[in-house]
Amino acid sequence: MRTYDTDVLVVGSGAAGLSAAISAHKHGHRVLVVEKDDHLGGTSAISGGWLWAPGNKQGVAEGDTRADAETYIRALAGDAFDQAAVDAFLDEVPEALDFFERETAVDFVYPETAPDYRMEAPGARRSGRHSR
Ligand SMILES: Cc1cc2nc3c(=O)[nH]c(=O)nc-3n(C[C@H](O)[C@H](O)[C@H](O)COP(=O)(O)OP(=O)(O)OC[C@H]3O[C@@H](n4cnc5c(N)ncnc54)[C@H](O)[C@@H]3O)c2cc1C
Repeated sequence: MRTYDTDVLVVGSGAAGLSAAISAHKHGHRVLVVEKDDHLGGTSAISGGWLWAPGNKQGVAEGDTRADAETYIRALAGDAFDQAAVDAFLDEVPEALDFFERETAVDFVYPETAPDYRMEAPGARRSGRHSR
């Protein structure tokens, strides 16, 4: 058995784990990622890679607003709507995208047309909320 000393231990190397690991590293912490599989990446590595990211720079340039995004989420969430969670999500998306574009080699693509899945819902948009 070996003993490792680290500031941050990340369990799993999917998008969530590696995002946390990169962020922690960029903030000056020593990071250890452990992965139980033979390959890195988890389900994320075989996914389509699309982010639903309201508040991204394309959407803002096209006139999307935080209020519209909240309206859309509220319409879909029904009784499960959690104001604190939604606030945290909508507050952090722009900074998260900016962080990865500024601090890493990630260069997100913003498709010209990428409609929300439920276009009949209030607050839905045809573009400006997806990136990859
Ligand atoms: C074909 C396909 C296409 C998809 N397309 C999209 C898309 O376009 N947009 C979208 O938003 N979502 C998409 N999804 C869903 C998305 O891929 C997942 O929601 C996302 O990848 C989950 O990320 P994660 O980091 O939470 O988990 P994962 O990527 O699954 O990573 C978890 C990792 O943790 C490891 N692990 C688990 N337990 C342990 C342990 N005890 N010790 C060590 N390691 C452990 C696993 O082996 C794995 O590597 C798609 C899914 C599939 C299957």
